[in-house]
Amino acid sequence: MKKNIFILIIISIFMYFFINKDTYVSNEIDVPYIVTNKVSIVKGRENIDDLIEVQSYHDFTLYVDMSGVNVNKKGLYYANVAAKTKNTMTSKIIEVEVLDKVVYLTFDDGPSLNTQKILNILDKYNIKATFFVTAENKAYDYMIQNAFKQGHTIGLHAYIHDYAYLYLSENNYFHDLENISKYVEERIGIKSEYIRFPGGSSNTVSKKYNSKIMSRLAKKVTEKGYIYYDWNISSGDAESIEVSSKDIIKNSTNISEDMDYIILLFHDSASKKTTVESLDAIIRYYKDRGYVFKNIDKGSYIYHQKILN
Ligand code: ZN
Repeated sequence: MKKNIFILIIISIFMYFFINKDTYVSNEIDVPYIVTNKVSIVKGRENIDDLIEVQSYHDFTLYVDMSGVNVNKKGLYYANVAAKTKNTMTSKIIEVEVLDKVVYLTFDDGPSLNTQKILNILDKYNIKATFFVTAENKAYDYMIQNAFKQGHTIGLHAYIHDYAYLYLSENNYFHDLENISKYVEERIGIKSEYIRFPGGSSNTVSKKYNSKIMSRLAKKVTEKGYIYYDWNISSGDAESIEVSSKDIIKNSTNISEDMDYIILLFHDSASKKTTVESLDAIIRYYKDRGYVFKNIDKGSYIYHQKILN
């Protein structure tokens, strides 16, 4: 018996050195791998470091040469990216697309029985959009995964869409955010870092429950690594129980000539039948004016409303 234990120990020691040696050797030859081939950015964004994905077993320093990119002019450019570790270095030329005239279609409060209809319309035009979801309608939770698989962005709205609860305290808000974050991650396999506050960051309903809470939440979500997005055009589809298609189309296309970036707010809930009915006309309006449709990603235009509480 003792002899067996002795042999086991010898094997263990041998394995320990063998495995470590193996890891050591493979680490020695490991070079970082630059995953990103292309990034799309809005005009004026000079730093793209946070958009470059690099896989590396070691700490590395990223160098991005943007000298060939005119960030103020729409176009397709090239940038040289290098990742350097203590012992090795790798570099790659990636494409940098500078965009103007972009419309980001965003849908709050879903998924719902309308999500599939919305996805079908988006698909018809080969357009990607963004869904800021809740966990209110669990019967349609599979739509979160479907939308994600089809290339749409899933953002976080609320687990329970209840102003009185969410804005009573920072603790309540972050407890709910954690819940919806987990709920989404369980369905799409990654953490979403995109947020839309229920009511938007400029909401005043929160005043009733907690003075200045929006100012504090906006700061804190950013510190935690989230990006929050408001809208600069609202379809107005939540202004009453049923808003006519005519009004939704009118609101959604009420833009000034110089608006290069539009974040358009819609609602994806069961009662918003007219939202679905308006989508075709709205999409065609923007297409005719040379806008491209993008889902929110880290290179997106960010619009923040003025915080009023
Ligand atoms: Zn909402």
